[in-house]
Amino acid sequence: MQVLLAKHAGFCFGVKRATQLAFEAANIGSETYTLGPIIHSPQVVQRLEEMGVISVENVSEVETGGTIIIRSHGVAAEQLEAAVRANLEVVDATCPFVKKAQEHVATLSKEGYDIVVVGDAVHPEVQGIVSYAAGRVYVVSSHEDVERLPRMSKIGVVAQTTQSFEHLHEVVAACLARGGETRVYNTICDATAVRQEEAKKLAGAVDCMVVIGGFNSANTMRLAQICRELLPRTHHVETACQIDEQWFKGVKKVGVTAGASTPKWIIDEVIDRISAIDKDKIS
Ligand code: SF4
Repeated sequence: MQVLLAKHAGFCFGVKRATQLAFEAANIGSETYTLGPIIHSPQVVQRLEEMGVISVENVSEVETGGTIIIRSHGVAAEQLEAAVRANLEVVDATCPFVKKAQEHVATLSKEGYDIVVVGDAVHPEVQGIVSYAAGRVYVVSSHEDVERLPRMSKIGVVAQTTQSFEHLHEVVAACLARGGETRVYNTICDATAVRQEEAKKLAGAVDCMVVIGGFNSANTMRLAQICRELLPRTHHVETACQIDEQWFKGVKKVGVTAGASTPKWIIDEVIDRISAIDKDKIS
């Protein structure tokens, strides 16, 4: 059975950086905390817990003198300020792409623009980006939402990093149609789109797909959904022990991909497990 791994399976740049910073901080040995789980991988979170890293919901839960790690999709400005005020050691693992979106919002806002953020209002990354606005800020998920916004003479647009370009384009067109001045920063990161395109190609070329990543990871679930639409024999697993050899009956080629928060060690374990299956012996 041939196992084909997608070229960009697993950690994106921002998650890799955040995870490295978290493990480095954990190795230093002082009381270390993360604001919420550092990434959507229960296995990485568990490893960090075993090293003494504690996930908290609020800065006020952190012991004086402790180290706090800011996750890759960032936190609200107030949380960061509270950590600095509390004299905590801050390891800012916010992905530089997310940071850019936060900075654009702060600058546009200071220059008198009303802010439109294209994204999912309940996502922590968006909540963080929104917090950098000094004035009016609106989160929209569609161009119809733009039509419902109050009158604005200067509009500054940014996007959640995982939005599609087409979606941003639609919202910008709706903003332009309202008249006034519109300034746009394309803050989309292509890591998600690249993984999705590769997954589509792979699913079209194999008999069975295995998608690896946290069951709580939205980007992994979306990868599995995209593959399943093309190839019903698609299975989403978090770890190698969830692999069922019955899935591979009659299979000649297996495609493997993984979400942006899946560590390499889990991908390797899954590939080893699939490679060890003797499909001729499956009853
Ligand atoms: S998906 Fe893009 S923006 Fe998000 S953490 Fe990864 S590299 Fe950064």
